[in-house]
Amino acid sequence: MKHCQWCDAAFESKVSYQIYCSPECRELATKEKIAERYAISRRKKMMSQNRKCKQCGKKLSAYNDDVLCHSCLVDPKEVNKTLKEIKGMADGKDKTAKP
Ligand SMILES: [Zn+2]
Ligand SMILES: [Zn+2]
Repeated sequence: MKHCQWCDAAFESKVSYQIYCSPECRELATKEKIAERYAISRRKKMMSQNRKCKQCGKKLSAYNDDVLCHSCLVDPKEVNKTLKEIKGMADGKDKTAKP
């Protein structure tokens, strides 16, 4: 005696892999599995659409798997600016250390 995976009705099965009591139950279960998978993929898509760049907070493209947006990822100007700032800070420090 087995129990249907969909309606939980007890049934006799000739084959060991049968998990549903009837083709109707199998069909309904399959449909729900498809709907579930669709809902999950839709949720994933929604989540990926709501991702934001960790640096500037700009909305990330759904096709961008990185945590940073493209301009934060590779922006030579920004890199130069940051380097200059760091250099300036170092220079300032040097001046105060050696007047
Ligand atoms: Zn059933
Ligand atoms: Zn960014």
